[in-house]
Amino acid sequence: MNCYIGIDLGGTNLRAAIADTDTGQIFHQRKCPTLAAEGQEAVIGRMVQLIRELIQISGEPACAIKGIGIGVPGTPDIDTGVIKFLPNLPGKWLNVPLQAIIQEQVQLPAALINDVRAITLGEWPFGAGRGAETVVCLAIGTGIGGGVVVNGQFHLGIGGTAGEFGHHVVEVDGLPCGCGGRGCLELYASGPAIAAMGVKEVMHGHTTRIGELVDHDLNRIDAGVIVQAAREGDPVAMGILQRAGVYLGIAVGNILGVISPQKVIFGGGVSVAGDLLLRPIVETVNERVHVIPLQKVQFVLAELGINGGLIGAALWAKRRCDAQ
Ligand SMILES: [Zn+2]
Repeated sequence: MNCYIGIDLGGTNLRAAIADTDTGQIFHQRKCPTLAAEGQEAVIGRMVQLIRELIQISGEPACAIKGIGIGVPGTPDIDTGVIKFLPNLPGKWLNVPLQAIIQEQVQLPAALINDVRAITLGEWPFGAGRGAETVVCLAIGTGIGGGVVVNGQFHLGIGGTAGEFGHHVVEVDGLPCGCGGRGCLELYASGPAIAAMGVKEVMHGHTTRIGELVDHDLNRIDAGVIVQAAREGDPVAMGILQRAGVYLGIAVGNILGVISPQKVIFGGGVSVAGDLLLRPIVETVNERVHVIPLQKVQFVLAELGINGGLIGAALWAKRRCDAQ
């Protein structure tokens, strides 16, 4: 066994587990609320506590922890282990040397990676990416992230920044984005964007199951409510997922033209919509993309759920340890 700790720093929960990087098996998963509003020091303290708990119990099954991989919802500089951009988490995270802090506190090698790059690294050998040499992964949640495997190589680009699909421009003069650009995909197809479309429909007084599901409390509308209403056949909710799917399809079409992958994997919380989202994505791709042999491209849902990011973060720690 090759044991590493994989961590997923999420907006809601902090998760950690021991992963066997040879088999992709996960042991002793732990989670606690992130409570990011308490600031980064408190969050890092909780992370260290989870790591210490796991190191303590790693005797069963007997396995020495060799390192720690941390998936973060933004862009760390993978070479220095310093956080460069963490837009969706409260606190002062910019330029926090998280890798060095963790290494000092637990005396084990640590490595940072973007959370969806971690999912990509997990899904590729152990999940929906099995058997493919060139893979693109998109995770649709609070934001939209991505990762790329090209010709059997995990593609990172400068400082690990390759795969920022959420910031593909899908509207030339579109809304301003938190990244500093405008018209980015995540403003039109992320979980919050889908929820905002639902709120608008209810506010405009349209008859829809969306309002009924939350007793007309607009604050309770999230992407999950839209998906549920769509599953119940609500035409307004289905229309919202259709619109988000078209934007995703446009972005995926652009990605296909650059990467030409055998598999496109969709993960993240919003992907539980399944076919309700996949259908408009694939239809849009079929309408617009004619230079890639689409019959050779598979559009699939992620298979590992939350474990994908944990296994991927552990695999990332292994790669960094092996490289040293
Ligand atoms: Zn953007």
